[in-house]
Amino acid sequence: MPAKDLEQIVNLCKRRGFVYPSAEIYGGFRSSYDYGPLGSLMLRNVKDAWVRTMVQMRDDTVLIDAAILGPPQVFEASGHLANFSDPLVDCTVCKRRFREDQLETRDCPQSMKGCQFTEARAFNLMFKTTAGPVEGSGAEVYLRPETAQGMFVNFSNVLQTSRKKPPFGIAQVGKSFRNEITPGNFIFRTREFEQMELEFFAPPAEGPKWYEYWCNERMEWYVSLGIPREMLRIRAHDADELSHYSAGTSDVEFMFPWGWGELEGIAQRTDYDLTQHATHSGQRLEYFDQASGEHYVPYVVEPAAGANRTMAAFLLAAYDEEEVNGESRTILRLHPRLAPYKVAVLPLSKKDTLLPLAREVHSRVAARWMCDYDETQQIGRRYRRQDEIGTPLCVTVDFDSLEDGAVTVRERDSMEQVRVPIDGLVEELTRRLGF
Ligand code: ATP
Repeated sequence: MPAKDLEQIVNLCKRRGFVYPSAEIYGGFRSSYDYGPLGSLMLRNVKDAWVRTMVQMRDDTVLIDAAILGPPQVFEASGHLANFSDPLVDCTVCKRRFREDQLETRDCPQSMKGCQFTEARAFNLMFKTTAGPVEGSGAEVYLRPETAQGMFVNFSNVLQTSRKKPPFGIAQVGKSFRNEITPGNFIFRTREFEQMELEFFAPPAEGPKWYEYWCNERMEWYVSLGIPREMLRIRAHDADELSHYSAGTSDVEFMFPWGWGELEGIAQRTDYDLTQHATHSGQRLEYFDQASGEHYVPYVVEPAAGANRTMAAFLLAAYDEEEVNGESRTILRLHPRLAPYKVAVLPLSKKDTLLPLAREVHSRVAARWMCDYDETQQIGRRYRRQDEIGTPLCVTVDFDSLEDGAVTVRERDSMEQVRVPIDGLVEELTRRLGF
């Protein structure tokens, strides 16, 4: 059964070293988080799983890694300077600020008495800073609020160097920054976060076809990595929800403990971005189709996901508690690709006679996968710890191993244990992990 309560995940993340409040020794930095030894591995696995599906397994996409700092011209052209804002309301009594579109009524969400809201005003979500030692205009730069513009401004570079032609996609994974009015719900909404975005460029007439295609593909990605289908849905935006660039958007949503929440938006951006950048830069951003002899501006379909939010969803869906022999066991039933460690090597005892063999087994396994090694505490407690951090397989080296050259492999979900010769261990683990 998945976690019912966000606190179950927040506590586990803190206790086991997935996610810590940022700058905690100074009392924390509001709504910012640091990813610890396990969380940093898991977040990387989420991003790697995305790159694997969206780039590695396809022949029509390429990956880039563009700059985070950008000049105002980029965001003027993209429309972010004019339009990337949320409606901000102030309460004149309690002095708090809210997003008007998130207020269900005109009552204060903090249940303060006598709250009085101002009219909403547009609050631009971009972080501005200055580059170099000189202040003033000319030195102004912005932290990107989405990775997408990096793909549009590099459209011609990629087209020329990659030998791709529409339909093709440019993918990117990286940090984005938004000065959110109301960050919250743990790592669901923060001011600094990571996005996984694909800009897929297609001949204009094929836009709708690819939109439908990507809506399906993206939904299946979450299912393939273990989120139960009933915890997911795809929701088309109403016309009044659409972003300034969008001719149609659908969100993949996950059933969070507080209700449905967006994991990813799939938008039909039409030729908006390339046309805007062509106009503002004076460069032609088109494709020349040799077959028809025509120049055209491709239409863009954009699946844009958030790595941190998605990690939260994977953790919530994987969380489970069960009773085993009268004791409760907490398990993260994470897909092996997402689990921080794929395997843990556990010598049964800390005795010197056992450790060299255990270390040798660890180095064999660690050459293939991220592998934990733990020699302290009673074996049952060590299994529980690995269950709780989602490690799919444990390998126990015991005194018999010294005689028979075999070890015990234990599965997280079934707790099944089998004896496996060390010589065939890597093959057996590969078979069980699936990669
Ligand atoms: P929301 O409506 O929740 O603010 P959005 O529609 O503005 O999100 P997009 O611009 O479509 O989000 O960004 C794509 C993805 O980036 C989102 O689906 C989400 O997973 C992620 N994302 C956006 N803003 C944040 C944030 N502040 N913190 C964490 N992830 C975010």
